[in-house]
Amino acid sequence: MMKSGKTSGSGAKLRDRNAGGMSTHKRMVECQYCRKPRADLDGPLQCCSGCKVDVYCSRECQKKAWPSHKSMCKQIQQRDAEATTEEMDEIVLLRKFKGKHRPMIFECTVQALDLYNDPTRSQRYILIIDLERRPHSNQPAIAFRMVDARVVAFEDMESAQRNEMRIQMHQAEGALMGSGDGTIGVMFTMLRVNTGAATIAGAGFTKDVLVPSRDWKGLLRTCMNNGVVV
Ligand SMILES: [Zn+2]
Ligand SMILES: [Zn+2]
Repeated sequence: MMKSGKTSGSGAKLRDRNAGGMSTHKRMVECQYCRKPRADLDGPLQCCSGCKVDVYCSRECQKKAWPSHKSMCKQIQQRDAEATTEEMDEIVLLRKFKGKHRPMIFECTVQALDLYNDPTRSQRYILIIDLERRPHSNQPAIAFRMVDARVVAFEDMESAQRNEMRIQMHQAEGALMGSGDGTIGVMFTMLRVNTGAATIAGAGFTKDVLVPSRDWKGLLRTCMNNGVVV
């Protein structure tokens, strides 16, 4: 049932430039049930073989997460089944791209949503990252190019996207908020390609990962457009 999720990569340059960010990275890449960070594990996190979206540290955690993950997992699979092969290839590639850039996406989302000043903004706003497909590139980390990124209020989103958000928020909050380890909220980021393909990333955050906003858009652009993964 489990498939190994490759999560390696070099981000030495970024770590230098962005000292202090490592604790954020560690926390953001973690088992979606027990929240054990990837850095504390011997091997890689394993992804759910059904949806290929959620990651876990062990079979045990995947089993325990299943009752709350089940409906989202089925919905993702249902949507995948309805997509054409071409659309599917793009979605799969987009999810891989998201996986590669996940720590940076979450670090930038903290700043973009200004959660340092008001953590409750994560309940009203989402970061949307607009991408375009980079032709002739099937390497996941550089398969897309960031065109722009902006913060949007949930209430200003199209209804289809808002419904999608609600499902994912509900699921993520159930899984992330109940763990009693200092998680104070769940933040969301949408990656959207100009062809219409989109995927949403959600992550719980603790108080100590909240840092004042810097040039998050520049950082995001630099990482995504140069394929820098951490
Ligand atoms: Zn776990
Ligand atoms: Zn799943």
